[in-house]
Amino acid sequence: MSRRRQIYEGKAKILYEGPEPGTIIQYFKDDATAFNAQKKGTISGKGVLNNRISEHLFTMLATIGIPTHFIRRLNMREQLVRQVEIVPIEVVVRNVVAGSLAKRFGMEEGTVLPRTILEYYYKDDALGDPLITEEHIAAFGWATQEEMHDIADMAIRVNDFMAGLFAGVGIRLVDFKLEFGRLFDGDFSRIILADEISPDGCRLWDMKSNEKLDKDRFRRDLGGEAEAYQEVARRLGLTPEDEPEVLNLAEHRKTRGR
Ligand code: UDP
Repeated sequence: MSRRRQIYEGKAKILYEGPEPGTIIQYFKDDATAFNAQKKGTISGKGVLNNRISEHLFTMLATIGIPTHFIRRLNMREQLVRQVEIVPIEVVVRNVVAGSLAKRFGMEEGTVLPRTILEYYYKDDALGDPLITEEHIAAFGWATQEEMHDIADMAIRVNDFMAGLFAGVGIRLVDFKLEFGRLFDGDFSRIILADEISPDGCRLWDMKSNEKLDKDRFRRDLGGEAEAYQEVARRLGLTPEDEPEVLNLAEHRKTRGR
């Protein structure tokens, strides 16, 4: 099979040239990294689940008018997306204290925030993605004021929608990371939601038990990563469909005698 040209390989995804100009194929790997890639591993079936979960969330977000790069899912591990110029900023939205916020201010994880906090990190692995302010973004020209206005506005809308969606299936949306891109139309460009939204970049806690259903299971050596991701997919109503052997991990293991 003639392989497509690889454009980029990241920690959890590979990007290939798409079939038409202006399109890209995102391939979701099972590789997992944490702590700026100091911790590495694989979560069997993660790529399939993230591809499906991200497809679902981007499709739902499009229905409330959030412009996204998502076009369609191609198969178990691949989706077709619009090619964008990624804004070099990771946007973190927080509803509940956890992770680096808890550490930075010595706060207890699980404290509900009185208002949603938006944070920006400069996307640079060598620097360990440092926390930045809008002053840095403006001074160094990483995004314009207009772009930052659109980004903040969309991040809040995405949070409102997703917090409700997850609450409806008994999951607390603690925090998550978004990435945005510039979609060019001649000289003009507009900001659209890009990358992925999956348990790799969200903190999702079961509302009753506070059980973690996200990448913290990997970061903190809690085990059961794939089962947690599968539980998120199951609660979102994402049935095994055409790939029962991987989405239905428990059955898969049983039939393989593991
Ligand atoms: N996050 C991410 N990629 C990163 C850093 C953070 O997807 O490079 C997500 C992370 O999964 C969490 C949220 O952003 O849902 C906030 O992460 P935090 O700043 O607490 O950092 P962490 O504790 O994960 O290092």
